[in-house]
Amino acid sequence: MGQTIWREVGPGVFVRRHAELDLNCGLVVGEQRALVIDTGSTTVRGEELAAAVREVTRLEPVVVNTHAHYDHCFGNAAFRDSQIYGHVGAADGLRSTAEHQRQQALTHLRSVERHEEAADLEQTEVVLPFYLVDSDTAVDLGGRTAHLLFEGRAHTDHDLAVAVPDAGVTFWGDMLEHGADPAMEDSYPLEWASTMHQLTRRDHVRQGSVAVPGHGDVVDNAFVGGQVEQLQHLSSCLKDSLSNRGRELEGLMACARGLGFQEETMRAAAVRALETAPTG
Ligand SMILES: [Zn+2]
Repeated sequence: MGQTIWREVGPGVFVRRHAELDLNCGLVVGEQRALVIDTGSTTVRGEELAAAVREVTRLEPVVVNTHAHYDHCFGNAAFRDSQIYGHVGAADGLRSTAEHQRQQALTHLRSVERHEEAADLEQTEVVLPFYLVDSDTAVDLGGRTAHLLFEGRAHTDHDLAVAVPDAGVTFWGDMLEHGADPAMEDSYPLEWASTMHQLTRRDHVRQGSVAVPGHGDVVDNAFVGGQVEQLQHLSSCLKDSLSNRGRELEGLMACARGLGFQEETMRAAAVRALETAPTG
């Protein structure tokens, strides 16, 4: 199972890091309710998380999914009696891609002979978020407020950041990635940097100092700034390439060279630049 203990990163704000995919789930404890940020990749994982939440607090949990990738929301069934927040686009995304995501993850799990995990995933019921938002939304936890922030397209077309200004902590979901390349497969590489940059300028985010990525180590504002800069270089080069050198994959991939990305990340960034660039 690996290490899955809560770490307090601000007063009453916890991160539970999972060996599985190095995933971070969050917990913000108010006086009346507790906010759970992301639920893991299967119902079993979600149930483990729910049990871990109960070890910290007996308050009623409220849930938010940062986005519709299975590792962040397939544990929702374990929280089906809770209010589950998500962006409208996350619910749409899950409706259209959940089974495809499941099949892709199953193929991977079977290829590495993790049959128990595969069986859990097969039996997982996908529960959509049903408190749907499409703009900034304050969630009152009693005595403190968590802010769901939406700025635009980045890692997906519906990423929510969750800021807890009284603790100086922001949960970024997969907009922010530590220890691996930003995941580009469903991304908007021409817009990602500017979406993140705008978010870093929000009062609720700017005044904080702790940043929690969807995967990897908890980091600081300098790390966030570094990733924004990296994505900014990428988008400038992609835009330049698209307008001056046409729509050739190889040329676009060259943009990601020198940024320290893996080959498959460069390819995905180039493919997504082509798919998402405005035409005409
Ligand atoms: Zn993701």
